[in-house]
Amino acid sequence: MAERIDGRLRATEVLAEVGAKAARFTKRAGRPPGLAIVLAGDDPASLSYIRSKERAAEGAGLYSETHRLPATIEEGALRRFVARLAENERLDGILVQLPLPGLLSADAVLAELPPDKDVDGFTISNQGRLLAGQPGLRPCTPLAVIDLLKWHQVPLDGAHVAVVGRSRTVGRPLALMLLQENASVTVLHSHSRDLGALVRAAEVVVAAAGQPRLVQAEMVRPGAVVIDVGISREDGKLIGDVDSGVSAVASALTPVPGGVGPMTVAMLMANTVEAAEWHC
Ligand code: NDP
Repeated sequence: MAERIDGRLRATEVLAEVGAKAARFTKRAGRPPGLAIVLAGDDPASLSYIRSKERAAEGAGLYSETHRLPATIEEGALRRFVARLAENERLDGILVQLPLPGLLSADAVLAELPPDKDVDGFTISNQGRLLAGQPGLRPCTPLAVIDLLKWHQVPLDGAHVAVVGRSRTVGRPLALMLLQENASVTVLHSHSRDLGALVRAAEVVVAAAGQPRLVQAEMVRPGAVVIDVGISREDGKLIGDVDSGVSAVASALTPVPGGVGPMTVAMLMANTVEAAEWHC
């Protein structure tokens, strides 16, 4: 039976460290690190994510403000709103909750964010820095995956890691960050042929496809470590990309919920405090 990699437990540890840093920052700067969350529309999943972000910010001693805007907002108005927030010196990080409704362009809106306030690490500028191996704010979910692997003492140097998914927010940046850890990375996607054989070759599997139960036991090498990023909703329950049968084969596995999700939120707080330290 696979060992459970407990993301909630690790997130508690990370948030305690972040809280201590935030307290030191507040003493030095005379204000807490500040985070603004912008939500356009009322997507239920986004609402639940922003609530957990607000709770984590409060728990770690950060100042946070949430701006809920109508789904019908025009792109120009949303851009101006984000640009105005970016000028506020009380705010170290600004998060625009994605996906944006309708035809709003995330790239156009994110272009209004200065890279040093882009705590989600999604701007073209920060993505370019990641590609170039330069310092910058990194996306929170890939940070969470790498932290959980290190916390579980999984050696990444030279390890073969299969990343299922190549999105700009999860799979692709994660692959680059794993390369920086000297892993050998196979990136898989919906056009990949023989997914099972490619995944089975890996010592570490990260499933980030958003396809419930995509990764089955026979696709996993015995003893592999499996990180399940996927979150889908079925009959009101959250389920991941990894089938429950994988726990009989893997040596360690993250649960859904309670794995990567809480750690993603913790990494957002860590990024906000890091950004605050640059601003002071
Ligand atoms: P996207 O839909 O943007 O990307 C999904 C990726 O998976 C694409 O690259 C797609 O390939 C690939 N894919 C889809 N189906 C298959 C398949 N059958 N075989 C192989 N690859 C496939 O999703 P995200 O990256 O935004 O998110 C992925 C999952 O992670 C979602 O469930 C999301 O909810 C979850 N998530 C969880 C977070 C957390 O905090 N735990 C944070 C962020 C996301 P192609 O490029 O060819 O289309």
